[in-house]
Amino acid sequence: MSRIRAAFWDPAGKRYGIPTYPWRMAPAHLLTLRQLTAMGLRPGGQGVQAQVLWRSRRYGAPGVRAAYLYDVRFALPKRSPSPRQRAALAKANAARRTCPECGRDAGYVLPRHLGTCLDCAEGVAA
Ligand SMILES: [Zn+2]
Repeated sequence: MSRIRAAFWDPAGKRYGIPTYPWRMAPAHLLTLRQLTAMGLRPGGQGVQAQVLWRSRRYGAPGVRAAYLYDVRFALPKRSPSPRQRAALAKANAARRTCPECGRDAGYVLPRHLGTCLDCAEGVAA
């Protein structure tokens, strides 16, 4: 193992406080938030379980970079909105499309600066 890799090799978390692995050396059950999301999962109640540390030479962001890992075994399926939440969202969006002047659903979100549908705004201007 190279010196840099050894510096970031701390599975027990003695040096860094949480288990730490060098780039590409983390166990397979530890995943980043993005990896969980790609699998349709979310961390659930768990906090960060471990981290990957690596040295970056990228311009503008030099130094040690970290990626936080979550345990896939504690992960839960992603939440999808309940029917009631869906209904509430649909209602809120309908309200944003409904003109207070003529009371019609304009079919688009009303421009904020007008506060009415385009037809009513033109009628007022004319
Ligand atoms: Zn209108």
